[in-house]
Amino acid sequence: MTLLAGIDIGGSKVLAVALDEAGTVVAQTRLASSGGPAGVVATAIEAVRALGARPGVELSEFRAVGVGVPGLVEPRSGAVSHAVNLGLVGTVDLGAMLGRHLGLPVVVENDVNAAALGAARVLDLDGRDLAYLSIGTGLAAGLVIGGRLRRGARGAAGEIGHIPVDPDGPVCACGQRGCLETLASGSALSSAWAARDGLSPAESLFAAATAGDPAAVAARDRFTDSLAAAVRLLVLTCDVETVVLGGGVTDVGSALLESVRDALARQSADSPFLASLELPQRVAMVAPGSAVAAVGAALAGREVLTAPGPRSPIGEPVVP
Ligand SMILES: [Zn+2]
Repeated sequence: MTLLAGIDIGGSKVLAVALDEAGTVVAQTRLASSGGPAGVVATAIEAVRALGARPGVELSEFRAVGVGVPGLVEPRSGAVSHAVNLGLVGTVDLGAMLGRHLGLPVVVENDVNAAALGAARVLDLDGRDLAYLSIGTGLAAGLVIGGRLRRGARGAAGEIGHIPVDPDGPVCACGQRGCLETLASGSALSSAWAARDGLSPAESLFAAATAGDPAAVAARDRFTDSLAAAVRLLVLTCDVETVVLGGGVTDVGSALLESVRDALARQSADSPFLASLELPQRVAMVAPGSAVAAVGAALAGREVLTAPGPRSPIGEPVVP
């Protein structure tokens, strides 16, 4: 069997999957993260070893490794910068370091981009243009257009969380004022609603809104109106067929999806133009725990194998 390993390295946890040739997950593992370049490399190696120890999987069957990380990634070299959550300072040649240790081609991709590739596979949307909207601590989108990731000229395609939408809003971590991320993100939700009863802030808010608490209903609707604005923005910019909601806030489940669909319907009510775009029907959500970023990282790794010409262990074309 030929296998691909996909590793989603986050600030607190690492999810890894083994994919077979058909793109099916045949093994999965979850580890705690370690920070810094040495910690990130050690955790990635441990993840591949843990996958290789699973029943029916042999380490020798892995042909390539894809890694998803939060930060700016130079996909050709695998160099990573601005990955502060992983304790990576400056620019780190993560792809080359991992390739040397693993002895396999390694592709590094931004985690939201990887999740976009993974969502297309997990939701069986291969071949359709889609945007994956990651609603985590921040807000960002990954774009798959014409079957390929659209990273942009400087890797900033899809950074819609930093589009200013409110001139009187709070100053964003990026230095601008009133960015979409200050309204529609896990951080924005935590500022608007305190966690209760051992639930996450998002779960607390949606439970209270469902129970009819007027303050919760208002806070939920403000939050999902802003998410709906993000969906509208993605469709009006790229006309993607589907916008997939993902990220930590989607642990709330279908109540979030329904609330965003309701908001899109309200926003379309006075505009025959928006209504004609059928926005509510174009929103989807990945099931919590479906490891889309790890699956997408593995699929990114596969591109090394299918690209023409011989390749070095770090995935760069070998110059004849
Ligand atoms: Zn910003």
